[in-house]
Amino acid sequence: MVTQKKTSSSKKINEQCIGAHVSIAGGLYKAAGRAAAIGGTTMQIFTASSRSWFSKKLTAEEIEKFKEAVKQAGLEHIVSHASYLINIGSPEKSTEKKSVKALIEELERCVALDIPYLVLHPGAHTGSGEEVCLKQIAHNLDVALQAVPGKTIIALEITAGQGTNVGYSFEHLHTIIDLSKEKKRLGVCIDTCHMFAAGYDFTTAENYEAVMKDFLKTVGIRRLKVMHINDSKTPCGSRKDRHESLGKGTIPLTGFKLIMADKRLAKIPKILETPNEELYAEEIALLQKIAQTK
Ligand code: ZN
Ligand code: MN
Ligand code: MN
Repeated sequence: MVTQKKTSSSKKINEQCIGAHVSIAGGLYKAAGRAAAIGGTTMQIFTASSRSWFSKKLTAEEIEKFKEAVKQAGLEHIVSHASYLINIGSPEKSTEKKSVKALIEELERCVALDIPYLVLHPGAHTGSGEEVCLKQIAHNLDVALQAVPGKTIIALEITAGQGTNVGYSFEHLHTIIDLSKEKKRLGVCIDTCHMFAAGYDFTTAENYEAVMKDFLKTVGIRRLKVMHINDSKTPCGSRKDRHESLGKGTIPLTGFKLIMADKRLAKIPKILETPNEELYAEEIALLQKIAQTK
């Protein structure tokens, strides 16, 4: 039996779907209790180790326990983040092969666990060039999605553009989806830290509208499945992926207010990946509060 403290599982009116990336230490099902304990109404998890190619197959018992715990905690729109090792855009055949296999296993676990969204870093070209890389990513997404039927959608995460990573622009995300044959199961994840570091300044009302307009035109709102709400340690355009706790980095709070109060984004699950887990409860409360202000 799963025992846990009674938490606020019923979502209040106007409350948004906000949560954090929580640990699965001690078993997948334990994540749900951790998410609820910080006031989350959703969560993000790794369904296996994020830094290993190897993953054990889930047992029927693990799957059942997880689904029950999610129900108990009242969580919705759960997100899984794929392993950091995966690079389906790699020009090295062995890396590409391992990556596609690992992505298939990620998808299989999400489908088994009823997780609707799998966030994936698009990939890095390590010298082969962006155009080739984007094409290869689209092809490998098709291979993986066709291998694993189900409802799980892969949400391609915008990157900061560090190193040879692709996916640092709305155009890149659009191009990948456009080249895919499995568009119905593809979406995007906007990470505020990555987007800012990639050069999108959304921190004044005017700039915010310009960035949104660009996104709506290039990608489209129906493709937006997940948002990662992180502050950044480095400035706009720095192309560095360094998360910071909300209000402690280079993104002024106005930027987060504009996002949280934007009705077009109200239904999108929003996940914290900020560096200090002890602040998660406070940060979730802050986001719920600024979502109400206008
Ligand atoms: Zn990520
Ligand atoms: Mn992220
Ligand atoms: Mn990041």
